[in-house]
Formats: sequence, structure tokens, C-alpha cells
Amino acid sequence: MRSIAVAGTGLAGLQVVTALRAGGYTGTITMVGAEPHRPYDRPPLSKAVLLGEADDSTLAADWDALDVELRLECRATGLRGGDARSGGVLDTELGEVEFDQLVLACGALPVTLPGTERYEHVRTLRTIDDAHRLRAAFRDRPRVVIVGAGWIGAEVATAAARAGCQVHVIEALPAPLAGALPDEIGQLTAAWYEQAGIELTLGTRVLAVDETSVVLSDGRVIGADLVVVGIGVRPATDWLSGSGLARDAAGAVLTDAQLRTTMPSVYAVGDCAAWHSRRYGIRLHVEHWDVALHAPSVVAANLLGAEQPYDPVPYFWSEQFGRMVQYAGHHPAGERIVFRGDPSAGAPTGAPAGADPDGWTVCWLAGDRLVAVLAVNRPRDLTQGRRVMFNDLQIDPDRLADPAVSIKDATS
Ligand SMILES: Cc1cc2nc3c(=O)[nH]c(=O)nc-3n(C[C@H](O)[C@H](O)[C@H](O)COP(=O)(O)OP(=O)(O)OC[C@H]3O[C@@H](n4cnc5c(N)ncnc54)[C@H](O)[C@@H]3O)c2cc1C
Repeated sequence: MRSIAVAGTGLAGLQVVTALRAGGYTGTITMVGAEPHRPYDRPPLSKAVLLGEADDSTLAADWDALDVELRLECRATGLRGGDARSGGVLDTELGEVEFDQLVLACGALPVTLPGTERYEHVRTLRTIDDAHRLRAAFRDRPRVVIVGAGWIGAEVATAAARAGCQVHVIEALPAPLAGALPDEIGQLTAAWYEQAGIELTLGTRVLAVDETSVVLSDGRVIGADLVVVGIGVRPATDWLSGSGLARDAAGAVLTDAQLRTTMPSVYAVGDCAAWHSRRYGIRLHVEHWDVALHAPSVVAANLLGAEQPYDPVPYFWSEQFGRMVQYAGHHPAGERIVFRGDPSAGAPTGAPAGADPDGWTVCWLAGDRLVAVLAVNRPRDLTQGRRVMFNDLQIDPDRLADPAVSIKDATS
């Protein structure tokens, strides 16, 4: 009987096995996962779980119907023989798993501040256990220093401020979200910190941390009872070194447009993978939920004999300071920017997400084509913009600039 192994029990891993069974696959499936928990969703960790609105984010699955051998607390430690068309062996902490085909869905791990491993009060947020520990720590209203004003830093800052903590966010780059967006766009979110009563220091690095303080590159030493490091993630693929599988400099597993790795019987998907995007003609490594949700059905179809490409308009969202922030597309392809609405007229902190009449949208254009959209409290702009990009429709920039005209109606 044919056997498929899946390394990683996150959203992408679960979606692969669900799609395999839905596609009629009747062979054996073995999933190995490093964590003790069944697959759960991560976006709620920095939102509902941290805010105390939810305790659990376990993903719904009918495990009996899936008929999967699920090995939890079982880290994959090595890969042998995946270059053969006939399969190979996955080494794990609990023994070998032989496979005909393997899917790598092992996600990513937070980057930490070197030298801080010994400190109990220096944390990252990746797992449900991290979220519960952080939420419990917020109850004592500590002085919280957050390192990094990226997506996770902004969401953790939102929750910490909401819990009544004194919060200071330190960002090495000149603007919030600068790792993901141009500085002048990220800068538009800086006022949100002040409105939430959070101190934001930009262009400054954390040089050192001790039991009670952090030392900054501008010479300041600031008190900190709790330090949360949100400076990005790296693919959880160190264990693949020596396997012969090609990875990029960051460690992401390289795949073709069909999500097949350089080994014919091995696929990779989700945060651990960088795929060839036909749409943009470049390799994309997108560490966001939408990829982990949708790309696995392409992997499953290809495991079952199809030759489907994965070619989305990438999408993600963030909920910060009472605002819904959504992005779709690939802005580096843009040549100019068009605003819809006035970014300086932000919603008051605490306004329900999606309900802000003063929301705004940034549209990136290349010629008469929309290539990216960042929508703040304008979910309809996001949905319509993504559809326009997916269908490669022409857009009229003058009509696009009028927030009263829908993006759909700005197409020509
Ligand atoms: C706090 C937080 C908030 C987020 N919010 C958003 C959001 O608002 N919007 C958005 O678009 N995205 C968000 N994301 C990103 C999104 O959650 C990820 O893109 C998604 O979880 C990726 O799924 P995955 O299955 O590829 O990887 P993961 O969810 O990381 O799952 C991989 C699993 O594999 C396991 N594993 C790792 N190494 C091994 C090994 N050697 N052997 C076995 N198992 C292994 C890991 O322990 C993990 O359980 C957020 C992420 C976090 C952490």
C-alpha cells in the first residue's frame, strides 16, 4: 500500500491530509509533529487568545475519518533517500518513518535575540503555550518592552496595552512594518501607537538585555519586567541540512510552481517553503496563513497525479490597535501609489475592526494594472482589489483615487 508522510502538524500539514482524503487517497498517512498539541490555528494566538477572548484555537478535524497515524511530540530529525522516485525515510525522535512520498510542512520558528536564552522574562510568541504564558504574565501589569514593530510586535503591543501594561516598542528600522512595507507606508501606522498610549522608538536597536532592563543603541537603558521579541521567523528546516534538499539562504525549502522540491518524491508547503511564482516570475516565500490554508490542496492534487501550479495573489491580514489591516499582491512590482481615503484621519483606538468609516487604502500600480493593495478598515477594497489583480484587469487611476467609487467600478 502506498504511504505518504507529513512532517509538521500545523495548518498546512492538516490541510494536506484533509485534501488527500477528500481527493480519494486510500493509502497510509503518517504525520509527525514536534508539539504536543493537535493542529491549531496561530493567528488567534496574538489576537483572541492574548486578549483573553479565547483559550484554544484547535482546528476542527474528523481524525477517525482522516485515518492518520498522528505522532505528536515527535520531531523529524533527518531525511534520507527522498531523491529516489520510490521514496525514502524520515528519521524522527521516535524512530524511522518510511514513505513513498513526503510533504514538508514544518513551518517556522521565531528569531531570538542572541544571548537572551537564559532569561525567563524574554519571550517569543509562536505556540499556544507561548500565548498562554504571555497572557498570564500580562496580568501582573509588567513594564513590557517589545522588540520589533512588525506584525507580531504590533499585535502583542495592542494586547499588552489593553491588559493595562506599560508598553514600549523598539524598532531598529525607520518605520513600523518596515520589513514588509515601504517606510513611508509603515510610517502611517506610527500614530496608532501613541493613540494607544504606547511608546514607540524607531531606528534604534536593542543591544543587550539583563534581568531588569534593556540597553538601546541610542545609549538609553530602559526598565523592563517582560521583553517580547518579535523580529521575524526563520524556516524550521535546520534538520534537513545534510539531506541534499535545496534550500535558500534563509533556510526555506525551494520548490517549483507545483510545490515539488528538488527531490522528486518530496513536496514542501506553508511557512517552510519558497515556491516559484509564475504570476510574478520570481520565487516567493510568504509566511502567512492564506498560503498554509490553500496551497496544501495543490500539493495533495499533485501527489495524486495532477500537475497543478500554485499561483495566488498573496494575502494576509493583521488586527492591531482596533484596526483591520489587510494586504494583497506584491508591491515591489508597483511603479506608483494611489491613496483611497485619508491616512491621517485614523479611527479612534478601540473602534471595532472593519467598522471605520475613515479607513484608507494604498494601491500600488504598474502601468494600468493594480499590483498590490493595503487596506485599513476597508475590507471591500481588499476583496475587490485582490479579484482585480487575480483577473489582471485594467484600472482607471483617477476613478481608483476616489474612495466613493468601488475598486470594481474603477476597472475599465
Ligand atoms: C502569533 C501569530 C499570529 C499570526 N497572525 C497571522 C495573521 O494575522 N495573518 C496571517 O496571514 N498570518 C498570521 N500568522 C502566520 C500564520 O499563522 C502562519 O503562516 C501559519 O501558521 C503557517 O502554517 P504552517 O503549517 O506552514 O506552519 P506552522 O503553523 O509553524 O506549523 C508547523 C508545525 O511543524 C512543527 N515542526 C517544526 N519542525 C518540526 C520537525 N522537525 N518535525 C516535526 N514537526 C516540526 C511545528 O512545531 C509546528 O507545529 C501568525 C503567526 C503567529 C505565530
